Amino acid sequence: MAANHRWLIIGQGLAGSCLAYSLLERQQEVTLIDRGHATASTWVAAGVFHPIQFRKLSKSWNVDRLIPEVHRFFGAMQSWIGQDVLESREVLRLFTSTEEFNNWFARSQELGFEAVLDPETITPGQRPGLKLPHHGGRVLGGGWINLPAWLTGVRERLQREGRLIERKLEYDQLSLTEAGLFQGAELLSEGYQGVIFCDGWQLPRNPFFGWLPFQEVKGEVLTVHCPGLDLKEIANRKLIVVPLGNDKYRIGSTNQWKNIDLEVTEAAQEELLERLTVMLDRPFEVIDQQAGVRPTVPDRRPLLGRHPHMPYLALFNGLGSRGVMYAPYYAGQMADYLIEGKEVDSEVNLIRFKKHLAKSTLQSDS
Ligand SMILES: Cc1cc2nc3c(=O)[nH]c(=O)nc-3n(C[C@H](O)[C@H](O)[C@H](O)COP(=O)(O)OP(=O)(O)OC[C@H]3O[C@@H](n4cnc5c(N)ncnc54)[C@H](O)[C@@H]3O)c2cc1C
Repeated sequence: MAANHRWLIIGQGLAGSCLAYSLLERQQEVTLIDRGHATASTWVAAGVFHPIQFRKLSKSWNVDRLIPEVHRFFGAMQSWIGQDVLESREVLRLFTSTEEFNNWFARSQELGFEAVLDPETITPGQRPGLKLPHHGGRVLGGGWINLPAWLTGVRERLQREGRLIERKLEYDQLSLTEAGLFQGAELLSEGYQGVIFCDGWQLPRNPFFGWLPFQEVKGEVLTVHCPGLDLKEIANRKLIVVPLGNDKYRIGSTNQWKNIDLEVTEAAQEELLERLTVMLDRPFEVIDQQAGVRPTVPDRRPLLGRHPHMPYLALFNGLGSRGVMYAPYYAGQMADYLIEGKEVDSEVNLIRFKKHLAKSTLQSDS
């Protein structure tokens, strides 16, 4: 393995932090640049991961590879930052109909689902505070990462080691020459083997990778205080309710494809409260509301790889609404790709969109 190469990472959200840790695990040197998490969706995310796609009652893409790595990776990172942030928790699905109840039971008997769908159903009364008119079922193997605590822990460790530079890169002033990446006349990447952009939903403004197809999906979350609910699992029914301790719960989240900004809205709060009222039969009080933007790709797969014409520059992005599940596994692939040139999976290789680059070059030439 190539030892002690230096890599410059732009962005210290889930993508940048996991990539930095993967490179450090492989005896590489890293420096990160981040603008104080100003736009970080990792701050806002509910932090939940689990193996099931409820709409089809199927396993999510690649979960058998991704979830074991979530547990290993965040487990190792807990020791690195000196703080517990990973909690294994079941996800309690509140069924919306008898049909869903029946489908659940049938699916739980199928080969491959015995480890993820608990066939035992939860009846009304077993979970005081939750409305369960059609009963509920539990998904196994998932959990929750306390992302704000994790992000802060990573930032502090990187700062202590002198690996984090807090500043905003001005995208309209960036250029690449044979000497490296410049902002105006300032050479940013002297001595670095490469620069990896992990800039989340800022991607469309990135002068090198902005050609990739991308959707910014705004989401809002609430924190509520609900004494007497005493929920141990993560509850799910059109939204998720994550127990935070001390009778506080994170409630997420909305999906908004228009008016992309970081402002919280009354409309989102109303939407979340309406859905929450269907789930809870205890009074609750809203104590916080936050907004973020998911960095989403139309095919819902991450974006990994070097720039097709500027291989000094690379990208790790497109974590969408599954950052917790995707980041650890694909940060490892990205690190092996950067250091050893190992291919990344074709489904996540950004080269799948190369025709968009040709199109954008043609447009800017005309
Ligand atoms: C409401 C909501 C709920 C969510 N819930 C979940 C969930 O339960 N589970 C889950 O797995 N995922 C969830 N997600 C998705 C998750 O948040 C993302 O997949 C993940 O955080 C993306 O990480 P990232 O590192 O790519 O981006 P970010 O977290 O946005 O990090 C990018 C970083 O780059 C920095 N940056 C950008 N541009 C510049 C620049 N020019 N100069 C310097 N720094 C720059 C930013 O400051 C930021 O810190 C949710 C998202 C939202 C919005």
